[in-house]
Amino acid sequence: MQPQPGNSRNLIKQILDESPRGMMHRGRIALGSRATGADIALSYIVVVGREPGPTLWINGQVHGTEVCAIVAGIEFCRRLDPSQMTGNVVFTASGNPLALESRTWATQQDFGQNLDTSFPGRPDGFITERMAHRLFSEILAVRPDLLLSMHAQGTDFSSKIYGVYKLPPESPVEPSDLYRFLRVFEPFAICHMRVGPGAGEHPGHHAGALDYQAMAHGIPAFMIEFGVAQRSTPDEVRFGIQCYSGICAELGILAAEHRTTGSPQSRLVTSRGHCNVDVGGLWQSDLLPGALVKAGDPIGTITDFTGLTVDTVRMPMDVLLIAIRQDPVVHSGDSVAYLAKEWTSVDLG
Ligand SMILES: [Zn+2]
Repeated sequence: MQPQPGNSRNLIKQILDESPRGMMHRGRIALGSRATGADIALSYIVVVGREPGPTLWINGQVHGTEVCAIVAGIEFCRRLDPSQMTGNVVFTASGNPLALESRTWATQQDFGQNLDTSFPGRPDGFITERMAHRLFSEILAVRPDLLLSMHAQGTDFSSKIYGVYKLPPESPVEPSDLYRFLRVFEPFAICHMRVGPGAGEHPGHHAGALDYQAMAHGIPAFMIEFGVAQRSTPDEVRFGIQCYSGICAELGILAAEHRTTGSPQSRLVTSRGHCNVDVGGLWQSDLLPGALVKAGDPIGTITDFTGLTVDTVRMPMDVLLIAIRQDPVVHSGDSVAYLAKEWTSVDLG
């Protein structure tokens, strides 16, 4: 077997430890090549502050269609002045450049693998496993003080910004350790995502998520669902830059004047899930994300192509709509809403 392509191991760690302080570094870590010879590479921006201090790692994307946080991250890094920083920012735009380029959520090359169920990966496995392995081993070598794993809501939905954390049983990180960072994003809700077998919140093996694996290794980490896939609006990008700056101020990397008040009040969601419909047709709902729907009240209707209402979708318990479907075309089993089923109000301090 050929040796692993390009770049020394733990390159980001080397840059942070060995390069002159007060500089911005940009580059690509080679992960392999395509049939035509084009590189498959992990792009990075490493901003080494003039003074040593904490490190924030922002991973802009693990799902190929989720792009808003990448645009915000690049603009945020371009505005940073390393001479004014105490500590460092590492920004990896996309953990899955193959999915990004194929304009698909998952990796098409190896049977539609979901990178965010593939961590910590394998160095000699399929390309998704290799991408997971390299990104995660770079992160583990650095051990950032905080890792943000950025996502976006699917294109079919309209959504509020929300946070998600997962709690591996062995993690030394307490959820409350994350609250002061989560509040910067003014999340509509913070979801404690259950990961064990039968959790049923979302298909897949979520102990393979980037944030789960980081938490399992004692690195504080959470996901933010930021914007909607395949678009980035100027307002969202501005808000993203403000949030990343606010996180840096919270960590002490940027001066206190960059602090944002955020939102001390949110909802802690302890049970959530998709609302999957039984019949196909045209989905319609007047409700917006954020709505509280009482048990038994209609969430929306499904109409068939002869104009008959074939289903009125309801839930047996009170629910909060975190996201609601905008694409009217549904088949049996499709999700029309992402719901909180159990929640309490939470003070983020
Ligand atoms: Zn995602």
